[in-house]
Amino acid sequence: MTYDQLCSYFVEIGEKKFRAGQVFKKMYQGASDFNEITELSAKLREKLSATASLTSVEMLRKQESATDGTRKYLFSVAGGYAIESVFMKYKYGNTACISSQAGCRMGCAFCASGMDGLQRDLTAGEIVDQVVAMERDTGERIGHIVVMGTGEPFDNYDELIRALQLFHDERGLNIGLRNITVSTCGLLPKIKQFAQDMPQVNLAVSLHAADDETRRKIMPVARAYEMKELLAVCREYTSATRRRITFEYSLISGENDSLEAAALLASKLKGMLCHVNLIPLNHVEEKSYRGSARRHAEDFAAVLSSKGIEVTIRRELGSDISAACGQLRLSEKQNRNA
Ligand code: SAH
Repeated sequence: MTYDQLCSYFVEIGEKKFRAGQVFKKMYQGASDFNEITELSAKLREKLSATASLTSVEMLRKQESATDGTRKYLFSVAGGYAIESVFMKYKYGNTACISSQAGCRMGCAFCASGMDGLQRDLTAGEIVDQVVAMERDTGERIGHIVVMGTGEPFDNYDELIRALQLFHDERGLNIGLRNITVSTCGLLPKIKQFAQDMPQVNLAVSLHAADDETRRKIMPVARAYEMKELLAVCREYTSATRRRITFEYSLISGENDSLEAAALLASKLKGMLCHVNLIPLNHVEEKSYRGSARRHAEDFAAVLSSKGIEVTIRRELGSDISAACGQLRLSEKQNRNA
C-alpha cells in the first residue's frame, strides 16, 4: 500500500488516520511483526495481526560471496513461487538488484531467468519488500536500486511504478529516484510512458546487438520492435528527460561481438546521450553461448570509444555464487533445497 492507501485502510477499519504514519515508518525501518510497533496498543496490534501483514516476501535461502560481500537471496512469495534478489557493496554505497516478476516471458536466448516462462507478476509490495528484507538481514542501508533481477519490469508496469513511488517515499525508504535504474529489453510503448511517469529514474535498455537480424536471433522481443524504431524512441526519451540512457550489451562470443558490430553500433548511437555497458556474458549451464574473452571485450570497447561512444565494461560481483547478471533463476535444485 502507498502511504495514502494505508491512511484510508486505517480509516476503513475504524482507526485513527495517524496510525498509518506509525506503521509506515516502522515497517520501512524493518519491523516484520505488528508487535514490534510498540506505539500501537496491544489490542490494535492484535487486530492488525489478524487481518494484515507487514511483509510479503519470506527468506528461503541466502548465499554470501567469500570475496566481495555480495549476498544472493532466494525469497518466496504467495503462491509458492521463488524469486531472487542480490545485495552488492559498491564504493558509492549498497545496491540491491531486485526482481519484478517470478519468471519472465521475454525468452532471451542467453538468459537463465526466463527458461520456465512467466509464473506471475510481483505486486508492488513484493518488489519493495525485497529491499526491506535485505536491509533487515544485512543490518545495512540500501541507497541504490537496480531493477535487473528476474522479470521484465515494463511487462509489469503499474506495479513497478507503484514500487518506485514507495521506494522514493520520504516517510519510508526515502531513496532518490536518481539512484534507481530500471532495465528493459525494449518494450517501446512503455519506454515512452516511462519518460512521462518517471523521468528522474535511470533507464537501461538491453540492446545486445547492432543489427536486427542478430537481435532477433537472441531476443524474441526484437521481432515486435525494430532497432530503428527502438533507437528513435530512445532518442525521444533522452530529449524529453535530458537523461542519459544506458545500453546494455552482453558480449557473446561469435554472436554479437565482432569489431564490425562494434563499428555499426557506434554509427547507430552516434550523437545520442547514452552510455554503453558491456557485460561479458555469464555462462548458463543449459545454454551453449559463451562470453567473449576479456581482451576481446576491451577491443570491442576500444572501437566504440574511438568513435566517441562512452563505454564501460561491467565489473562482476558475486560470480562465485552465481549472482552475476543474468544468472538469477529458479532452479529445481534451489526449490528443493529450500
Ligand atoms: N528484463 C530486463 C531486466 C533483465 S536482466 C532486461 O531485459 O533488461 C538485466 C540484464 O542482464 C539484461 O541486459 C539481460 O539481457 C542481461 N542478461 C541476461 N542473461 C545474461 C547472461 N547470461 N549474461 C549476461 N547478461 C545477461
